[in-house]
Amino acid sequence: MNIAFIGLGNMGAPMALNLAAAGHNVTGYDTATIPAGLTAASSAAAAVAGADVAITMLPNGDILRRVAAEIIPALPAHAVFCDCSTVDVDSARTVAALAEARGIAALDAPVSGGTAGAAAGRLTFMVGGPASAFATAEPLFAIMGAKAVHCGPSGAGQSAKICNNMILGVTMIATCEAFALADRLGLDRQKLFDVASTSSGQSWSLTSYCPAPGIGPASPADNGYRPGFAAELMLKDLLLAQQAATASHAETPMGALAAELYRQFVEEEGGKGMDFSAMLPRFTKRHIG
Ligand code: NAD
Repeated sequence: MNIAFIGLGNMGAPMALNLAAAGHNVTGYDTATIPAGLTAASSAAAAVAGADVAITMLPNGDILRRVAAEIIPALPAHAVFCDCSTVDVDSARTVAALAEARGIAALDAPVSGGTAGAAAGRLTFMVGGPASAFATAEPLFAIMGAKAVHCGPSGAGQSAKICNNMILGVTMIATCEAFALADRLGLDRQKLFDVASTSSGQSWSLTSYCPAPGIGPASPADNGYRPGFAAELMLKDLLLAQQAATASHAETPMGALAAELYRQFVEEEGGKGMDFSAMLPRFTKRHIG
């Protein structure tokens, strides 16, 4: 396939290189650097001319809207436009409608798995948009990822992503609080892990990404809380969830509190650039009363 790949940062570059390594003809564009191994285009519009599938992996919804306005008129009529960025549901639906008005099928296909998953081709794709476009993109998801779930119409992929990450943010905070409380109670952290990892307090945050150093499988806590998944990216996703909750009149009090705690951590407490599990040292440092 002829693939255009726009946004070649920490995630986009390894994803595009995996597609090229699998034998696809990948033309790349980024306002910063374009990695060797891809055909470099001089603009986003030039990258998509002749593309069967155009993939974007961009920082946010505003940039996605700008890039979409530039590439949609330049895409061939048969092409599929597949955005893999994490953006607000409204931006995902708006760019899909813009594409569909020109007869071009669009997918919102955000990912989980982080930079390690992108490099290893082990991402999970959660996808919104028409089934026929999903079928076209599925072989590419199989190269870049280990799993792709067709979640529903346009916006369903972003909806799944922010709901999942809201659960993640809330359970990570709860897990960190519990370890900090255990410390104050004189309860050994390993003992709490041994109990909760096979009891009803179990979660991915505890057993796959334990925020306490030296406990459970290796995680960013064992690496000085270097990300991993940065606290500011968690904040971005929690704010997207709050934006969607407000727009859809959903009540998400735990999500709102998690967003506020990550906002304080990132903006006021030096958490920017640290892994999102560094909420544990944040709680252990604080005393109430
Ligand atoms: P990044 O900042 O490393 O990459 C974004 C790239 O987009 C940069 O190279 C930038 O130069 C480029 N760019 C910006 N404006 C552009 C424009 N107008 N035209 C072309 N290129 C442009 O970010 P990332 O970590 O690769 O994340 C990309 C997306 O993936 C984000 O939406 C993020 O939330 C999501 N995501 C990231 C992770 C992660 O662990 N890093 C995990 C899952 C999802």
